[in-house]
Amino acid sequence: MSGRHFLQIPGPTNVPDSVLRAMSAATIDHRGPEFAQLGKHVLAALKPVFGTTNPVVIYPASGTGAWEAALVNTLSPGDRVLCFETGHFATLWQEMATSLGLAVDFVPGDWRHGVNPEVVAEKLANDTGHTIKAVCVVHNETSTGVTSRIADIRAAVDSEGHPALLLVDTISSLGSIDYRHDEWGVDVTVAGSQKGLMLPPGLSFNAISDKALEAARTAKLARSFWDWQPMLAANERGVFPYTPATNLLYGLKEALRLLDKEGLPDVFARHARHAKATRAAVNAWGLEVLCADEREHSGSLTAVLVPEEVDADKVRAIVLDRYDMSLGAGLGKLAGRIFRIGHLGDFNDLTLAGTLAGVQMGLTLAGVPIDPSGITVALEHLQVAP
Ligand SMILES: *Cc1c(COP(=O)(O)O)cnc(C)c1O
Repeated sequence: MSGRHFLQIPGPTNVPDSVLRAMSAATIDHRGPEFAQLGKHVLAALKPVFGTTNPVVIYPASGTGAWEAALVNTLSPGDRVLCFETGHFATLWQEMATSLGLAVDFVPGDWRHGVNPEVVAEKLANDTGHTIKAVCVVHNETSTGVTSRIADIRAAVDSEGHPALLLVDTISSLGSIDYRHDEWGVDVTVAGSQKGLMLPPGLSFNAISDKALEAARTAKLARSFWDWQPMLAANERGVFPYTPATNLLYGLKEALRLLDKEGLPDVFARHARHAKATRAAVNAWGLEVLCADEREHSGSLTAVLVPEEVDADKVRAIVLDRYDMSLGAGLGKLAGRIFRIGHLGDFNDLTLAGTLAGVQMGLTLAGVPIDPSGITVALEHLQVAP
């Protein structure tokens, strides 16, 4: 097909041309002086994106690796951790915690709401012996388009005076939705390269609080590749304990430059604006946004419920076949019930207009009864200057 493919899944996202070009440079000696300069640069430039002045470590791994790193560096076999069933990714993270030998308290959820801060407070209030060692929260649940309120969750932990660590997955929110590692008192922030950071898959991150560093001294889960200590020691000199993903780091340097140039507040406002226009289109079509709480709508993606008799995967197949656009599938419990529109990363008003036009035409071709005013309503939103 001619023209560009529309990669409108909520990650991996479209990679800007300048990032692709940056990565095409020759690979260099990862123990040489030129590399150390690059390493120091990206390790420092990452910090403001996390909202931290503390260390951020970079793994040559997908986000799943950084989940594991957060757990094995801070916890010991049999430790209790509190997790919440916000959707597919929260479910996978708690399965990992269980398989690593942690005792998971998994609070059930309906996949339409984020973590309820009141339930956090209640669970911690009941834990008078402080046996819960960590609270794990997925900030933006990519399977549902629901964003949990981390500042309120932090306040809930503090209100109980509970010492549990707060571990937060920002894989699909970092660089798209307002996030503040230090201000919100997060202990480990987990992130990945292929969503809001506009890079290909292959890098993941842990931002680490002082309290998490302290916990790592006594944490007894087995760890080697993921161990923060050798990583932090090598990072002091801008290098890594094993071969880093050199060319992805070239890309990271450029992606961080792009985010800095636009300015994070403007980046967040852009995502929120596109998310709002998308929801307006969905409502005008007469369809339902999966997220059930006004305060928790995701800026990164919108999950759309289809009528009971419709197979959402059929709609996605038509959109791919006719318009060369990939939309996100329903995951786990939501397979066939929803499709997900990614509006994060390297994205502008006309990318959204094209995306929504493709969705509307695909829905019509699939025989889904919709009101065709959706696209017009979205364009009206986009005509208003940001
Ligand atoms: C994508 C995603 C993951 C999984 O990351 P991988 O890079 O596929 O390992 C985990 N959590 C969230 C919230 C995600 O969006």
